[in-house]
Amino acid sequence: MSSNKTVLVINSGSSSIKYQLVDPVGEAEIAGGLVEQIGEPDGRIVHEFEGRRYELVGPIADHAAGLRLAYDMFADSGLNLDDAGIAAVGHRVVHGGTSFHEPTLITGEVLAEIVRLSELAPLHNPPNAIGIEVAREHFPDLPHVAVFDTGFFRSLPEAAATYAIDREVAAAYGVRRYGFHGTSHEYVSRQVPQLLGREPAETNTIVLHLGNGASASAVRGGVAVETSMGLTPLEGLVMGTRPGDLDPGILLHLHRTAGMNVEDLDVLLNRRSGLKGMSGVNDFRELGRLRAEGDAAAQLAYEVYVHRLRKYVGAYLAVLGRVDAIAFTAGVGENAADVREDALAGLERLGVAVDAARNRAPGRGARVISAESSEVSVLVVPTNEELAIAQAAWRFV
Ligand code: ADP
Repeated sequence: MSSNKTVLVINSGSSSIKYQLVDPVGEAEIAGGLVEQIGEPDGRIVHEFEGRRYELVGPIADHAAGLRLAYDMFADSGLNLDDAGIAAVGHRVVHGGTSFHEPTLITGEVLAEIVRLSELAPLHNPPNAIGIEVAREHFPDLPHVAVFDTGFFRSLPEAAATYAIDREVAAAYGVRRYGFHGTSHEYVSRQVPQLLGREPAETNTIVLHLGNGASASAVRGGVAVETSMGLTPLEGLVMGTRPGDLDPGILLHLHRTAGMNVEDLDVLLNRRSGLKGMSGVNDFRELGRLRAEGDAAAQLAYEVYVHRLRKYVGAYLAVLGRVDAIAFTAGVGENAADVREDALAGLERLGVAVDAARNRAPGRGARVISAESSEVSVLVVPTNEELAIAQAAWRFV
């Protein structure tokens, strides 16, 4: 029995590595940071420990170099990772397909399957796998655990998970709705009954995860029954650079009339759409500044964003039938009071009433923002995907 009691959480993206050393039992973040622009001339690492911030700028060749740099940053800030009591390494993996739902101990075979699932998530699984490879080389004696973004949505009913296309094509190519951000939806939907003092099995919640990527879920008694993302993280809500729901005929139209090929459409959908496509900026704070200056494109982008969100809330009220709580989370959900107010305005007849003063009151922690009269509790619940991943990995040791 070892006395190790921390978990290193790694979220490896295409050009970045987010990492955090977590105490999963004490639910505390010990240290962490972000390596950015890997492979670009202007690489950068920002590391935080004990309230101090450390930054290094310069080219970072690849993910292995990025992880080594993070390791050095720990040492330079006075916390040697060899003495940090690491019991396990937790890895965020975006797509588990139909192969993985639960947190999984990573073996060579598991890693090979994560790589194979890249055909479903070409932007996400390859860098996730690279992060796992370099971390396993760095920490060969520790258990490495993969936690899948799709896992929480394994419970979607077939009626929600099935696309209405030729069933043989769908089966042959794995075309179904998988859902993403599952770690966050699960974490937030578990917090809600605790915060409200309710039985988890008797609490129905709509979770709105609004970050750079955005997704909604409907959770009945702790079980996910609907979510807005599908085969890929492109479906559903309007996001920073992705459009969410579209008429698929648009793609055929642009292919035929504008001559756009698969790569062009990929760039259009993943980088030139959403808030960025409509207004030129993808950051919600910048969007707010443009709106304040009277920028018409930014104002329209905001209205499209909020309109889509309302549509999903309405749809999920119907899917669940009885809703006890609506919870906002992630960067926009936790901070943008105007989005929360505008998305839920005028829904009193459906039992939803936001209290303007509570909604606007400054605060960082979990809080209720609905009026006393509201049948449905509306909450802000900060998400903590790193803690959830750390706790999942901890269960293996
Ligand atoms: P990611 O999906 O990258 O984890 P986050 O959950 O960090 O994203 O959310 C990023 C988004 O949150 C950005 O659009 C950012 O502008 C927005 N955001 C962060 N802080 C605020 C704030 N104070 N007010 C409005 N939006 C904010």
